[in-house]
Amino acid sequence: MDYSRIINRIGDHWENKFGKKIFKLNFHGNFTCPNLDGTISSNGCIYCSMKSLEPFIDLDENNQIEDHIKYLKERNGAEAFIAYFQDYSSTYPSGRIKDRLSYLKELYTKAVSHPDVVGISVSTRPDTITSKELDLLKSLNTDVTIELGLQSINEKDLKWIGRGHTVEQFTDAVELIFSYGFDIVAHIILGLPNETDHGIFELAEFINTNKISGLKIHQLMVLKGTRLEELYTQNKAPDILTDSEYFRRLGLLISNLKKDIVIHRLYADAPKKDLIAPLWCSNKTGLQDKIFKYFIDNGIRQGNSLKHL
Ligand code: SF4
Repeated sequence: MDYSRIINRIGDHWENKFGKKIFKLNFHGNFTCPNLDGTISSNGCIYCSMKSLEPFIDLDENNQIEDHIKYLKERNGAEAFIAYFQDYSSTYPSGRIKDRLSYLKELYTKAVSHPDVVGISVSTRPDTITSKELDLLKSLNTDVTIELGLQSINEKDLKWIGRGHTVEQFTDAVELIFSYGFDIVAHIILGLPNETDHGIFELAEFINTNKISGLKIHQLMVLKGTRLEELYTQNKAPDILTDSEYFRRLGLLISNLKKDIVIHRLYADAPKKDLIAPLWCSNKTGLQDKIFKYFIDNGIRQGNSLKHL
């Protein structure tokens, strides 16, 4: 089955846009987050575990970039790359760095200087992106995507997470980023404690009617070393979704999303050593096929329920 007929997949979108098979290069930067460094809070989001992110390439190690590019070309047929910064808030360097903007400029410039890199994607929070960082990104003269954490449009759930920002701050950031002509990808989580089916319809409508071009969808996960792990071990965490319930909620969302919203991710995965629950996402091999089988069996395609909104 051709999955591209079911959802608008990022790989296909990139191939249409750049005429090449694109992969991301995950770069490391010296970043932190205002929700961890005490600016907003020191607690972080309830599920925050930066350890579980994929390994990063150190830009100061030239061989690492070349080795990675060679590997992705040979193994996956990659033809070009997006420089990707995703750890912590990737527009928010550590407080130890005196001139934060100069640091960002040097880091981003280095990342896009490789001839095979055709764009940059930066993941951050709505409250850590201003016209200063956006001007800097514009000056790189490359394709820019900003990934922006939203997680939920339910303010109760944002408080439960301890996000430290509101939905309004997210929409303000979207307006600002859109004025630069950059693509905006929202990160959202399904399975938060106050989520309802109606809330999922409202979320789809929110995505469809704001200037959001793409979506990364994750299930709520309990990872080791997080505040959520503490709640989970005390039986105070919300029910963690089973795979079939996650597929159902995902189907509701996907079928109510406009077809031009690009789907970057349908689920999160984490290394087994860091994952407590749900265990169904510990083995990503086969999970994507299971999700698409659910979509096919239930007649779900992106946008095919939009008339119900
Ligand atoms: S915004 Fe990201 S880095 Fe900051 S506390 Fe939340 S999950 Fe962690």
